[in-house]
Amino acid sequence: MTPTDDNNATGIVFNIQKYSVHDGPGIRTVVFLKGCPLRCHWCSNPESQAARIQLAYNQGRCLGLSHCVRCVEMCFSGAISRGEDDRIVIDRALCVECTRDCTSVCPSNALITYGARRTVADVLRTVEQDSPFYARSGGGMTLSGGEPLVQEDFALALLREARKRRIGAAVETCGHARWEVLDEACRLSRTLLFDLKHMDPARHEEGTGVANDLILENFRRVMEHHPKLHVMVRTPVIPGFNDGDADIEAILDFLAPYPHVEYHLLPYHRLGTQKYHFLGREAPMGEARLDEARMSGLLRLVAARRGRS
Ligand code: SF4
Ligand code: SF4
Repeated sequence: MTPTDDNNATGIVFNIQKYSVHDGPGIRTVVFLKGCPLRCHWCSNPESQAARIQLAYNQGRCLGLSHCVRCVEMCFSGAISRGEDDRIVIDRALCVECTRDCTSVCPSNALITYGARRTVADVLRTVEQDSPFYARSGGGMTLSGGEPLVQEDFALALLREARKRRIGAAVETCGHARWEVLDEACRLSRTLLFDLKHMDPARHEEGTGVANDLILENFRRVMEHHPKLHVMVRTPVIPGFNDGDADIEAILDFLAPYPHVEYHLLPYHRLGTQKYHFLGREAPMGEARLDEARMSGLLRLVAARRGRS
C-alpha cells in the first residue's frame, strides 16, 4: 500500500469509541481493529481476537421461535435450527459467517456482526468529528484492538493519514508485532501504550498463549530507537496470574532503566463476560474477581518504586 492509496485502504474495525480519557492523553477517539496474536484468558474484548467479521447471538433479545423463525428459514448452510425452550441453536461448525442473511432478517437485533470492513477515509471522517476536543485537550486518535498492528497495512495507513490531517495518534499494543511495523507506528505516533503482562516466559505463555521474548525485545528496541516517544506501560492485574508482589516487582525491575516511562496498573474487570456468550464461548476466567485490598497493595508498591502508578 503506497501512501497515496492510504485513504482507500480497508481493514476490519469492530468499534469506534468517542470521548475516551483512558487511552492516552486528553480526549480521544479509539478505533478498535480486529485480530490479535494473543489469547489472554482475561480478555475483555473477545470479539477482537479473530481477524475476521463474526456472528454474535444475544439470546436475551431473541423473540423466540413461537414468534419468529426468520433466521432458521434464511440460513442457507443449516447452521441455525430449532432448539428447546423456544430458542434457536447455532451450530458454529456449520456457520460460514456470511454475516449477512440471518442478521439482516432478525427484527430484534439478537443476531449481529462483530466487525465491518471500512476505509481509512471513512474511519477518519468519524475521528475528525471531534477535532475541536483534541485541540483543547491534547487528545487525538488511539488505535486499539485486539492488536492493531496485526492489520499492518491498514494500521499504518490510518496513522499516516492521521498525521497528514494533524490528528495526534496513539497506539495501544501488546508488543507482539513485527519490529518493522512497530518501528513505523512509533514514528507516526505521539504516544505508545505498551502492555507488559508477566516477566516469566512460561507464565506469560500460560496466560496469553505466547511467550514474552518478542514483546520484551520489541520494548527494548522502542526504548533504543524512540527515546523521545511518550510511552505508557500498562499491566492488567489479573487474579491468580500476576497479582502477587513478586510479579509486579519483576516488571518494575525491568522498567528501572527507563524512569521516563509512565507505568500504570489496570485492575481486572468482568465487563467482557457477556460477549463470550454472544460468541458461543465460555468466559475463561469464570467467576474470578480481583481482591480490592490486593490491588491497593500493588498500587502502593508501584508508587513507592516509581512515585506514581
Ligand atoms: S452468518 Fe450466514 S451461515 Fe452463519 S448462521 Fe447466519 S446466515 Fe447462516
Ligand atoms: S431472526 Fe432474530 S428474533 Fe427471530 S428467531 Fe432468529 S434470532 Fe430470534
